[in-house]
Amino acid sequence: MANTAQTLDKARQLCDERGVRLTPQRLKTLELIIQCGRSMSAYELLDLLKQTEPQAKPPTIYRALDFLLEQGFVHKVESTNSYIACCALGHADHCSQLLICDQCGFVEECHDDELAALLMQRAEQKNFRVEHHVVESHGICKKCRDS
Ligand SMILES: [Zn+2]
Ligand SMILES: [Zn+2]
Repeated sequence: MANTAQTLDKARQLCDERGVRLTPQRLKTLELIIQCGRSMSAYELLDLLKQTEPQAKPPTIYRALDFLLEQGFVHKVESTNSYIACCALGHADHCSQLLICDQCGFVEECHDDELAALLMQRAEQKNFRVEHHVVESHGICKKCRDS
């Protein structure tokens, strides 16, 4: 995984290319998520953001998260209602699968196109059109298993 500074540079570059504004709050929110290295709830993020921006309120963080989700810089972990940084910024519209550790909150992102394609195929057989999909697996990560 790329380091924080590299990822933030990449985010800046993508925003320039897309003509969208990466405000200091949006950038800071992304930085907090990357640095944390596990999934974070909006309120955990708000608490951290308040350390540098005491005036931050829930809408501040939700607006920043909406933007980051839209740009594909972060992913929502639906089953735990939290957020992680994307491991491959710039892969527009990618389907990912998340492996979620229930002990430490670490989330590993996988990009298995075959798995996604198979799911699409199955849906098609049932005449179902997939518009959005979420694949989340819960368990225990290597670090927690080893300790
Ligand atoms: Zn991703
Ligand atoms: Zn763990």
